[in-house]
Amino acid sequence: MKKCVKTVCPYCGVGCGVDASIDSDDVITVAGDVEHPANYGRLCSKGAALAETLGLDGRLLKPEIAGQTVSWDDALSRVANGFRDVIDKHGPDAVAFYASGQLLTEDYYLANKLMKGFIGSANIDTNSRLCMSSSVSGHQRAFGSDTVPCCYEDLERAKLVVLTGSNAAWCHPVLYQRLVSAKEENGDLQIVVVDPRKTASCDIADMHLSLKPGSDAMLFNGLLVYLDQKGERNEQFVSRCTEGHQEALTAAKECAASVEVVADYCGLPVADVAEFYRLFARTERVVSVYSQGINQSSSGADKVNAIINCHLFSGRIGRPGMGPFSFTGQPNAMGGREVGGLANMLAAHMDIDNSDHRNLVQTYWNSPVMADHPGLKAVDLFNAIDAGDVKAVWIMATNPVVSLPDANHVRAALEKCDLVVVSDIMAKTDTTEFADVLLPALGWGEKDGTVTNSERRISRQRAFLPAPGEAKADWWMVSEVAKRMGFSGFEFASARDVFVEHAGLSGFENSGQRDFDIAELSILSQDDYDCLAPVQWPVIDGKGTARMFMDGKFFTASGKARLLPITPRAPKNATSDDYPLTLNSGRVRDQWHTMTRTAKAARLNEHSPEPYVEIHSLDASENCLVEGALAKVSSRWGKSIVRVRISKEQQRGSVFVPIHWSRQFASQGGVGPLVNPVVDPLSGQPEFKQTPVLVTAYEPAWYGFLLSRRALQLKGVTYWARAEGDGFYRYEIAGEQAPEDWAAWARGMLCESNNDVNWVEYLDVAERRYRGIRMLGERLESCLFIAPDTQLPARSWLAGLFKQEALNKQARANLLTAAPPQGEEDTGRIVCACFSVGLNTIVSAIKAQRLVSTDDIGKALKAGTNCGSCVPELRGLLDSLSSL
Ligand code: SF4
Repeated sequence: MKKCVKTVCPYCGVGCGVDASIDSDDVITVAGDVEHPANYGRLCSKGAALAETLGLDGRLLKPEIAGQTVSWDDALSRVANGFRDVIDKHGPDAVAFYASGQLLTEDYYLANKLMKGFIGSANIDTNSRLCMSSSVSGHQRAFGSDTVPCCYEDLERAKLVVLTGSNAAWCHPVLYQRLVSAKEENGDLQIVVVDPRKTASCDIADMHLSLKPGSDAMLFNGLLVYLDQKGERNEQFVSRCTEGHQEALTAAKECAASVEVVADYCGLPVADVAEFYRLFARTERVVSVYSQGINQSSSGADKVNAIINCHLFSGRIGRPGMGPFSFTGQPNAMGGREVGGLANMLAAHMDIDNSDHRNLVQTYWNSPVMADHPGLKAVDLFNAIDAGDVKAVWIMATNPVVSLPDANHVRAALEKCDLVVVSDIMAKTDTTEFADVLLPALGWGEKDGTVTNSERRISRQRAFLPAPGEAKADWWMVSEVAKRMGFSGFEFASARDVFVEHAGLSGFENSGQRDFDIAELSILSQDDYDCLAPVQWPVIDGKGTARMFMDGKFFTASGKARLLPITPRAPKNATSDDYPLTLNSGRVRDQWHTMTRTAKAARLNEHSPEPYVEIHSLDASENCLVEGALAKVSSRWGKSIVRVRISKEQQRGSVFVPIHWSRQFASQGGVGPLVNPVVDPLSGQPEFKQTPVLVTAYEPAWYGFLLSRRALQLKGVTYWARAEGDGFYRYEIAGEQAPEDWAAWARGMLCESNNDVNWVEYLDVAERRYRGIRMLGERLESCLFIAPDTQLPARSWLAGLFKQEALNKQARANLLTAAPPQGEEDTGRIVCACFSVGLNTIVSAIKAQRLVSTDDIGKALKAGTNCGSCVPELRGLLDSLSSL
């Protein structure tokens, strides 16, 4: 072994520890860190495939200006001079940074310092705005600080876990696995899932409340009323440690006076609501987990406070196994909050509206100015770019052209912007297309710093690979630009130097007044920093803090927590006769954000190789939609073309489209262009869960697919989706017009010339079917299958042939029919990504070997025995086959 480094996974907010090893042949492997308290050795499918995403394909390796490679000096001077010119002419609020939860804390700290303390604007916002800013607002209103009260251990110590708007099985898989184990070990643990969709997380649920989209605040208001009616107010805690409970209760009673009223509003059976309320009321140790289903709402902050109200009212906070618990989406969403990387925050959890805090930060930074009002939040920021008010923007480690609501508008705004700087690891994303200046950033495995996970645990992300090309750390880019703008205070030699300054600020004139305090880490030497073990803030007397508010003291002026009066409200433009269905968006199991990294791992592309719309069977038939065909999803803001998946998990009237597909991976598969840009008035978080849409059949003249060893320039197709497989690229395609000559069209894309002798084809004019195969020697080079409908051969057997250097006679004979030879099978869509076990293989084994449990499947096929992410799907298969 050449090297083994402890680091953390760069994907979700669970923040799993990873052991990355490089052997003597430079082969990299990853495994879960058994010592890391977030995961104790577990990894999900995405984390387990990290080593497969490290290739330099598509990486941005040199700085560019207007598409031309330049020196770092030229690129940094262009950025510094460009920003300086705009500020001189139009003032500091005419420039902005748009950052990311992918940045390390050190990167974020310096970007925030430069913008707020030296440029003098608070126009730094981040993609974390799209993820959990409603939680920030909810925490600040209730606790006087953005404090997460709980820790992961509370999930295991609880007797009731309520997952609201959280499909943890797919979005926080290792925490879900911890819950699965907790339930196995503790038969008393009850789990309730509150979600319009029947998600994979329902696999372990004792109760699923499939409420109407957006009705969560009503459900929790009703719970508050119920707790009051049943004498579950914790008198001592409420009177000594809280304020506002009467007002909160009055508001709740006005709308949620009875279980019946709540059930009607939420579209739930009365008995289910009553049972949930009984369960909550009779269980002392309750953890209410919530995530994007709550946060991503134009009333997200109110929903958060409706949940927190119930915990404060019943005193279920600040003790083991209880509390409201926001699971953050991104690896460093929390770190961004700690440094003030949101437009309405200051550094170290201080308040931008508080002049004492502004003075304190300015003194610590010895900075020439200090932003004195909040900056533009994400959606407003891109509106301001569109309006010409913001003329220069630096986008760091994110892809807003894909991820923001009304994404076509974001595209148009960047098109107009005078100066767009993008720092990224990838050369070609939907956003880098608009860059005037491109700055190559270090990626996971190359960069060095800290991140904070959902339970306030700071972990070191460590480098184990050399910097590729001329890529540099984000904190270095920011400090170099700052110096070139003439600012002092940016003379940092390492990430550790930045970290200790950040740690020092957290303790500066603090004396326990502010929650975020890691001042004890400000004396770390480089060696100490390199060896820093995961630790939960605040760090007091050399120790981290697992749980907050154990003393019943909060960070409000009075020291008391606040209950808030909440009146549920629907989003603006939530319904429309023209758009009768409600669009919900979210993640799939094996992809991360806009797929720039996860799509490099072949096995992660196999579970969901195409963008899709999930729809209830009755809605599908009303709209003439057929399983496996294509559909056009339209809203007032844009449209997408995606594959139809009819699902009994989907509520009537609601549809689901995943967030991941950009124009790099599908022609029109993005959900961003569809999403209603309405935001929460307090948190600025957009409404990603409730956009009115219309779903209609998209009826191309032909459907097809194409597998090829090399990436292709497609011609004559109106729909495509691309996924990288093991040794090949897969393109699902469709066209509105059939080519006049199929052979000429196919050869034009796949062959070196029109007379390529390696091309074998079959054309059935009457049936309108075309097939072509290109062999190079005994190796399959590409294959193409076209039909007038979706009746096309399965892909898995053909895909497997790309792993072979020489096809045997039988395989070659079967190529045009795409039928596996006798004794072989098409394994089907991959269900278990860890061991590449396909659907058909699992179904055959269940039937042939009479498997009755997921353990049986694991023993027979290994499926589900590693990360466990596919276990809910395995159980679903067992259920559906047993009912046949
Ligand atoms: Fe990474 Fe998966 Fe852990 Fe999230 S749960 S940090 S994606 S390994």
